[in-house]
Amino acid sequence: MTGNERQRDSMRSRYDAVVTGVRVAGASTAMLLARAGLRVLAVERSARASDILSTHAVMRPGVVHLHRWGVLDRITAAGTPPIRKTTFHYGAEKVELAIQDRDGVDALVAPRRTLLDAILADAACEAGATVIHRATVSQILHDSSGRVSGVEVVDAAGAVHRVKAGVVIGADGVRSSVARAVGAEVLHEGRTPAAVIYGYWRGLDLNGTHWHFGRNVAAGAIPTNDGAACVFAALRPERFNAQLRSGLDRLYGEVISEIDPELADSLTGAERIGKLYPFAGRPGFIRRSWGRGWALVGDAGCFKDPITAHGITDALRDAELLSHAVVDGTIAALGGYQYERDQYAKELVDLSDEIASFDWDFDRVKALHLRLSKLMARECDMLRERQTALDAVLCV
Ligand SMILES: Cc1cc2nc3c(=O)[nH]c(=O)nc-3n(C[C@H](O)[C@H](O)[C@H](O)COP(=O)(O)OP(=O)(O)OC[C@H]3O[C@@H](n4cnc5c(N)ncnc54)[C@H](O)[C@@H]3O)c2cc1C
Repeated sequence: MTGNERQRDSMRSRYDAVVTGVRVAGASTAMLLARAGLRVLAVERSARASDILSTHAVMRPGVVHLHRWGVLDRITAAGTPPIRKTTFHYGAEKVELAIQDRDGVDALVAPRRTLLDAILADAACEAGATVIHRATVSQILHDSSGRVSGVEVVDAAGAVHRVKAGVVIGADGVRSSVARAVGAEVLHEGRTPAAVIYGYWRGLDLNGTHWHFGRNVAAGAIPTNDGAACVFAALRPERFNAQLRSGLDRLYGEVISEIDPELADSLTGAERIGKLYPFAGRPGFIRRSWGRGWALVGDAGCFKDPITAHGITDALRDAELLSHAVVDGTIAALGGYQYERDQYAKELVDLSDEIASFDWDFDRVKALHLRLSKLMARECDMLRERQTALDAVLCV
């Protein structure tokens, strides 16, 4: 019997919280709620340690969360390289920034999702959550007053389980079926997404992450596991759609050459591992993220264009804010969760949207990056202030 089967067999008929989706948002929320003593069921459709579309760069507030929760050491012990420098390339101009040693964090990381999501899911299991992969939340249940009261889960063997829950949490990504089932209102929308193509390369000499910005294109090179780097090219969706027929490889190569011939040259001397991953682009949004018996976290509640590489960092923050609200158990606390999230979410969606529009000159995109950096500093200040109170309840 596998671990997964053992967990399925031990599925109870009632939990304090059922989490749909076990990746960065869902696994973190399940872990934190279980650490706080709640009975938690977390259900994920895909396999443990499977991949998902993402260039997986984690920003400072996200790394601080991983450190405080005691999982950063596991990520680095698994061979994730520390990132100690970030270089922004605005055309030919380079701006180099050393990563400061603060809040217990002296480097950033960009772990493959096959690793990060599995480590968080394992930490949720260790905290006492029942975590089931290869199972699907197929239906949201309501009581006679219309309050969300549980879920129906179809396990890998096709068996259907009806499970009652104090709260049902949708951590099920942009196409959240929980959001759909509860009719979560869209409160704010982005308009100008970028398309992305990325792949993995071995043999690049990077010295930290590199973010390149040019006319109508952007690119990045991000050191990750197994001595590889994730190299992405971003472009307008109209061009992506028009030129896709000429081949993904060709379009990727063209964009990288346009933005930085030196980066293109370095790729010719490197070894590509596996295929290229295309993402056609999707406008950002913010959804109402709580109601009677339900809540949304991560991309299910708020999605922003990946050009600012903030989705994981924000999912980790919101997992902690939501867990605190669920432990508090009041409607006011759930309302407070959305209020606090939106102190960051709207600005992040709008900043990402403007950068993804490519309608800027270098002065403007630098100003947007500065705003992003100030927002992250504010988030780290908030984390420091909340730390003592939260650590007592939610952390290791
Ligand atoms: C091309 C691209 C590049 C990106 N690059 C970065 C980056 O560099 N840095 C960064 O921070 N962010 C990046 N992001 C964004 C980041 O990947 C997301 O913000 C992050 O994955 C959100 O995590 P999540 O846990 O909310 O949702 P997801 O990672 O989408 O996970 C949701 C999970 O829910 C499961 N699920 C859905 N429905 C059900 C159901 N009914 N029952 C059971 N399970 C279900 C799915 O199988 C899925 O595994 C990128 C995104 C894209 C598209």
